[in-house]
Amino acid sequence: MSKQWACNEHECGVVITAADLDELVAKVNQHFTEAHDSYELEEMIEDAAIDVADA
Ligand SMILES: [Zn+2]
Repeated sequence: MSKQWACNEHECGVVITAADLDELVAKVNQHFTEAHDSYELEEMIEDAAIDVADA
């Protein structure tokens, strides 16, 4: 199972998929840094992450 997370920032809508939660947190925070000049707490990412089937 992969993990998927969708950005809830206004008019963003980016969807990020990663192989596991650690990778997801890293990718989400890279997105937040680049797109929103901000960061997201790991537990918030974990709460919002959903399981998706591996491609
Ligand atoms: Zn975003």
